[in-house]
Amino acid sequence: MATAIPRLFARAPQCCGHDMHRRPTRSNENGNVNRPHYRCRRCRDMVFDDWEGIREGNPLCFCEEVSRGQVESGYAFVFRCARNECEFKEELVDED
Ligand SMILES: [Zn+2]
Ligand SMILES: [Zn+2]
Repeated sequence: MATAIPRLFARAPQCCGHDMHRRPTRSNENGNVNRPHYRCRRCRDMVFDDWEGIREGNPLCFCEEVSRGQVESGYAFVFRCARNECEFKEELVDED
């Protein structure tokens, strides 16, 4: 079942000079139940290994890649680098 989820990364991304470790999450602390992700054992940084929130038409991040839109506490909706490779952040402003 988990294999049906298309991966964002062809191979493990690097963080702190090492490969990050891939695993599904069972936590729902951020409302992200069982989404596969990579986590760095050193700095605890993490990045999702799926395409959720990545849509054509999203703003491009500093890597010139389509960003990932997501809901975060403190923001209505925010776009970030899909692969966590740059510091891009753009908040979606509702205009109604
Ligand atoms: Zn790290
Ligand atoms: Zn980027």
